[in-house]
Amino acid sequence: MSTASINGGCLTSLSPSQSSLRRPTLRPSVSARLNTPSSSSIPALIRNEPVFAAPAPIINPTWREEMGKNSYEEAIEALKKLLNEKGELKPTAAAKVEQITAELQSGSSGSIPFNPIERMKEGFIHFKKEKYDKNPGLYTELSKGQSPKFMVFACSDSRVCPSHVLDFQPGEAFVVRNVANMVPPYDQVKYAGIGSAVEYAVLHLKVENIVVIGHSACGGIKGLMTFPFDGNKSTDFIEDWVSIGLPAKAKVLAEHGGADLPELCTHCEKEAVNVSLGNLLTYPFVRDGLVKKTLALKGGYYDFVTGSFELWGLEFGLSPPLSVKDVATILHWKL
Ligand SMILES: [Zn+2]
Repeated sequence: MSTASINGGCLTSLSPSQSSLRRPTLRPSVSARLNTPSSSSIPALIRNEPVFAAPAPIINPTWREEMGKNSYEEAIEALKKLLNEKGELKPTAAAKVEQITAELQSGSSGSIPFNPIERMKEGFIHFKKEKYDKNPGLYTELSKGQSPKFMVFACSDSRVCPSHVLDFQPGEAFVVRNVANMVPPYDQVKYAGIGSAVEYAVLHLKVENIVVIGHSACGGIKGLMTFPFDGNKSTDFIEDWVSIGLPAKAKVLAEHGGADLPELCTHCEKEAVNVSLGNLLTYPFVRDGLVKKTLALKGGYYDFVTGSFELWGLEFGLSPPLSVKDVATILHWKL
C-alpha cells in the first residue's frame, strides 16, 4: 500500500461515520474484553495519594476480572515469589556493591556516581531560577490555560526533544512522543491514547498545525526495516507498534531495494512521516480542519548527525488522490 493510496482513499471515500465503523474491525477480540467488563462497578484506577507514598498496587483487581480469574492475585504472588528469590541473592549483591564501590574509589577518583534524584533536583532548581522566576508574565498567563499553535508528534528518542530542537516555549506545542514518531490510523479501541490526544488538540485546543517529525538514526525505524513481520514476534509491543509504518517500508524497498540498510533507514525515516500524515487524514476532525483551512499538516525531519532540519507541507484536494511527496513543498534548514 502506498502513501498515495492511503491519502486518496481517506480523502475521497471515507465519511466520519464510515471511518469509525471500519476501524474497530481491526482487533475485535481485544476490544471486547476491555470495553465490556462484566462487573458493573467502575474500577478505581488511581488512589488519591502521591505515587511515591503508595505502597500498594494502584490497580483495582476487579478491572481485570474478565481477562482471567484471579490474574491480579496471581501477578502479586508471582511478584512476591520473585522478590523472595531475589532475597536469596543478597550476599552476592552486597559483594558486587562492595566491588563497584572499591573500583570507584581506586580507579576513577573524582568521578561521582550518578544520582538520579540529585540530577532532577538540580534540573528543577535551574529551571525555576533561570526560566520560571525570570518569566513571571509567561507563567502567569499559562496558569490561566493553554492555546498552543502546534501539535507535534516526535520520537521518544532522548536526542530529539522537539521543544529543544525547535525552541518551543511552554504553551507553544502540544506534544506526543512515541517510538518512531508514529501516528496510527483512526481506531477508537486500538489507539485510544493517540486518538484522544489528536481529538483534544484539534477540537479543544484548536491547534493550527500538526507536525510529525522524523529523525536520523531512529531505532524504531531500524526495527521497522529489520523485523521480519512473519508472525514470529520477538517483542511484546514494538513490532506491533512500528508495523504502523509498514506502508513506508514497502515503498522504500520498492524504490530503493538495492541500497544498504542505513540508506534504507534514512529513506524510511522520512517516508514513515508521510504515512503518519496520511493516517492523520483518517481522523474526521482533522479532515474537517483541513477542509475549513483551520488546520495544516506538516512533515519534518531532524538530522542530528548533520544538524539540519527539513520541513514539508501537505496540501490536498478532494480529487484526484495525490501522494504526499507529489504536493510537498520542502524547506531545508542547515545553518
Ligand atoms: Zn526514533
